[in-house]
Amino acid sequence: MSSHDNHQSLVHDILQQFDIDSDDVSKVTQRFLRQLQEGLDHPRPWQLPSYVYHVPDGSEKGTFLAVDLGGTNCRICLVDLLGNSTYNVTQTKQTVPEHLRINPRYQPLFSFIAKALREFLDRHKLRPENDCSAGARRIPLGFTFSFTCEQTSISKGTLIQWDKGWDIPEALGKDPCAMLQESIDEMELPVQVSALANDSVGTLLSRAYTSQEQGSTLAGVIIGTGTNAAYIEKVCNVQRLPRPERKRTHDSIVLNTEWGCFDDDLEVLPITSFDRALDASSINPRQQQLEKRVSGMYLGELMRLVILHCHEQGVFNMILGEESPCNRPYGLDSSFLSLLAKDKAAESLGVASAIERVLSAQGSTLRDARVLAQLADGIVRRSARLAGSALGAIIIQSGRLSDTQSEKGTVQVTSLQTHRHRSQRPKHFGRGCGLLSRIVGWLKRSIPSSTGPRNVEDKPLSRGSEQDIIDIGVDGSLIQLYPGFEAHMRSALRDIQEIGPDGERKVRMGLAKDGSGVGAALMANAAKLS
Ligand code: ADP
Repeated sequence: MSSHDNHQSLVHDILQQFDIDSDDVSKVTQRFLRQLQEGLDHPRPWQLPSYVYHVPDGSEKGTFLAVDLGGTNCRICLVDLLGNSTYNVTQTKQTVPEHLRINPRYQPLFSFIAKALREFLDRHKLRPENDCSAGARRIPLGFTFSFTCEQTSISKGTLIQWDKGWDIPEALGKDPCAMLQESIDEMELPVQVSALANDSVGTLLSRAYTSQEQGSTLAGVIIGTGTNAAYIEKVCNVQRLPRPERKRTHDSIVLNTEWGCFDDDLEVLPITSFDRALDASSINPRQQQLEKRVSGMYLGELMRLVILHCHEQGVFNMILGEESPCNRPYGLDSSFLSLLAKDKAAESLGVASAIERVLSAQGSTLRDARVLAQLADGIVRRSARLAGSALGAIIIQSGRLSDTQSEKGTVQVTSLQTHRHRSQRPKHFGRGCGLLSRIVGWLKRSIPSSTGPRNVEDKPLSRGSEQDIIDIGVDGSLIQLYPGFEAHMRSALRDIQEIGPDGERKVRMGLAKDGSGVGAALMANAAKLS
């Protein structure tokens, strides 16, 4: 074999390792579905109740502040909900310096946020002078805190673990709202932290607020620095909720899946030598395994490890300079993968020079560019298909497909059977959860559809009708900016037996614009109602 053939086969072998076929997708979905159901019954660091029982319908009104602490940035927003599915938002963004993200003490981080908040209030004249008395009106603030918290109410929670490269040990076990309020009070700002919001919960709420088809939004999905999703579950399915909460009159609750930690014991997730190396040198080995294969923080690093390996094996013509970001852990940003995807054919000279610039490389050829584009595509394709597999588990768990199918008289018995087998007890019979509704659900499916609808809800649904749509709000730079990310997610949805092409067509994904800011405002509004 010539060295050219050897290099071809090495690249081919790497691409094979990153490939996940339809069987793999199904296995991942089934495993995630089991974890979703396990998290409903038992306290686990996933399926965390948000204590949001009120999903917005667009009529919400009020002025709120929001702080969004993402994986990379801290955004401060002033949100005016106008009550007609629209809003005004004014915001400012700062990158959180690394010495605050990794620090033994929590106070420096929260002082940084409070200081940024003070500047924001001053700039927008929201801090009346001499009006910091105890009785002064405080502006309610929703705090979007995108790390794993076990919430005990809409405004209180306990930080369980850091991820996305953050590490502030003193904050573990503490309430993020209380830590932020402490710094706000020290600066005597007229602000009350009234809701603890997760970014995926916020994404769901803001999408529901702006959605034209009321009631169609099922989930919010984040694929940015990290990855996570929230969805609407029936309260009676959530056995882990404390009894008084289950006795409330609400039907639905928003759950924060924290899916980044799914399959941490690696039962089904694909593992390449690059995944192993990334995991071993991460600050949280054996944790956040889905996140490490899906999110923006890690895709650049996987690409860097792959490039180094290929470079060592002489696959490329280009020479990486000593100062190349490839020589520094996490030196390569995942936006580099988008840059390669934008020019998939890699025929332009522009991409070769962009590669040289980003990688501090010399002598790159069009063939190098083509190989890099193939490798990037393999890594992102796997990421998007895994995200699609996880979304598929949520869609199946929600019962939205079987509800619709049963009303159409085309129930997929196989899916219900596998469902039953997996959970030992059926979770979705008709729309309710009690024994009576199970019987009603069984009857509904047994009666031929020609019996006709008995009430408005039972009307057969046509494709594209409001109830037919499964609306998913999405946010995060990777899903927004990587060309074809959604298409890959959709290919995975089609591969899942219970969803298939028909189910996939019902799924509408759309950007939840200003998701975390507007979402946090809606959480603060929900806090008033709870
Ligand atoms: P956060 O999750 O911190 O709120 P973002 O949603 O902007 O912020 O996500 C930032 C992540 O997205 C970073 O990991 C970055 O590498 C990645 N990213 C930014 N731009 C792009 C792009 N064009 N293509 C792919 N990934 C990108």
